[in-house]
Amino acid sequence: MHDFHYKGDELFCEEISIQHIVEQVGTPCYIYSHRTLIRHFHAFDDAFQDIPHIVAYAMKANSNIAVLRLLAKEGSGADIVSGGELFRALKAGVPSHKIVFAGVGKSSEEIRYALESNILMFNVESSGELLLIDEVAQTMGLRASVALRINPDIDPQTHPYISTGLKKSKFGIAADQALTEFESANKLSHIDVVGVHCHIGSQLTQVTPFVDAIKKILRLIQTLKSQGMNIRYMNIGGGLGITYSDETPPHPKDLAAAITPLLQTTSCEIIMEPGRSIVGNAGIMVTKVLYNKMGANKQFVIVDAAMNDLLRPSLYEAYHDIQPVLKNESAPVNTVDVVGPICESGDFLAKDRKIPQPQSGDLLAVMSAGAYGFTMASNYNSRAKTPEVLVKDDTIMVIRQRETYEDLIRGESIPEILA
Ligand SMILES: *Cc1c(COP(=O)(O)O)cnc(C)c1O
Repeated sequence: MHDFHYKGDELFCEEISIQHIVEQVGTPCYIYSHRTLIRHFHAFDDAFQDIPHIVAYAMKANSNIAVLRLLAKEGSGADIVSGGELFRALKAGVPSHKIVFAGVGKSSEEIRYALESNILMFNVESSGELLLIDEVAQTMGLRASVALRINPDIDPQTHPYISTGLKKSKFGIAADQALTEFESANKLSHIDVVGVHCHIGSQLTQVTPFVDAIKKILRLIQTLKSQGMNIRYMNIGGGLGITYSDETPPHPKDLAAAITPLLQTTSCEIIMEPGRSIVGNAGIMVTKVLYNKMGANKQFVIVDAAMNDLLRPSLYEAYHDIQPVLKNESAPVNTVDVVGPICESGDFLAKDRKIPQPQSGDLLAVMSAGAYGFTMASNYNSRAKTPEVLVKDDTIMVIRQRETYEDLIRGESIPEILA
């Protein structure tokens, strides 16, 4: 499943001990396994070998340009949600004809940049956006390829913050307005309607919501084709879950087995946008224990990583397994909160967690941190962002330096009047 494992009492990434990596780059830090990334990409890509498809990796999960380059070399495209992500994808060498652009709030500058870059298509989320894309394309004298993102009103049975395909969601166009929207899109002079897109949520642990959404979209595509629209792409989004604790999400093979027969009923090329399932378990964050502190009725382990480094526990109450980098069988197992130095009560990495009691100076690995980990990091409390390290066999590659204090104030200035 992934390449973080114990040799004796020591946690390794591939052939290097985590301790050894930390000696070189310090803590906190993110560590990614090259081997896991490759394996996860191919697990997904190979599962769908029977149907013409593009894997457009959802780069908001992990957008380091080294990770993008690695995936692009294996044949991946990119699902982007901003001009900044487009810039990264192009820098990393992702072919523009495999880039699709989603998101509810694309600006005219971002639309222009994407058209100049000749991306495959926009996944359009509203009629207002459609009109703006048409307008920008007109000023540039070209036609923009678009898919409309449909909100199929399917409950993905996941955390509300990462459900995106329900009626109440801000994403996509409501299923019952879809036909009307497609008809008006088709009339725009600088728009080429080429596809239908849907993405119903993230961390899905069952295939049924995918199957239900795909059935709805297939019916829509049939109707559109019967009205003479040349729909060539069907984008089924991402969302396949991973194991954080005791979830048993479907393997990409199981997902493929469930949906390939459906997808084979359309002549459309299929686009998929997996994010988490490729990078999630390919990365960990390593942090050092600073202090043990007894609260009135709770025991705290205070570590040097915080919510600014890994936001998921604070934002979604997400569970991340916490493993010692060096096992100590004689340590008593205690129930503790693992918390960071930030001045917020919401700053925690784990709550009421039973772990072998670590001592100050010990290293802890926060598992499954490869997706929505570093990409959600901020500089809150003026904390420098962590380095990112890619490991291949026994080689360590720093793919992002630790930020310095100077980095923290880059771009800031004290105006003349305060001199
Ligand atoms: C976030 C997102 C994805 C990826 O979701 P994962 O759960 O990481 O696979 C795919 N498509 C769109 C449009 C997204 O917003």
